[in-house]
Amino acid sequence: MSDCLFCKIVAKEIPAEIVYETGRTLAFRDINPQAPTHVLVIPKEHHADAAALAEADDGLADEVLKAAHAVAVQEGVAEGGYRVVFNTGAGAGQTVFHVHAHILGGRGLTWPPG
Ligand code: AMP
Ligand code: ZN
Repeated sequence: MSDCLFCKIVAKEIPAEIVYETGRTLAFRDINPQAPTHVLVIPKEHHADAAALAEADDGLADEVLKAAHAVAVQEGVAEGGYRVVFNTGAGAGQTVFHVHAHILGGRGLTWPPG
């Protein structure tokens, strides 16, 4: 999608600090981090949100979750605990409509989230 911010990051038209990459996924640091580790994991293919990604039914959602865990291990937060968040829909705070998993860790995380 030509007007999608994260598609532009995939296409290297907009710079990002990429920390992990597989054939079908990309992970980069959030520009406005909410925790010491705050990485976004996306499928390179455009899907608007987690529901659309799951609907694609081709194993891509599985790859995104595996990439999320690989990022947590690489960032050193897997043992201490980390959070994977898919804000889904504007009412849940989604602002970029290219599905992304927030990987948050490196500090205590309270529950319920705000
Ligand atoms: P959400 O509100 O769940 O849609 O999350 C969108 C996230 O994208 C926010 O945490 C933003 O800080 C982050 N973000 C927006 N623009 C960029 C960018 N150019 N590079 C990295 N992260 C970004
Ligand atoms: Zn996109």
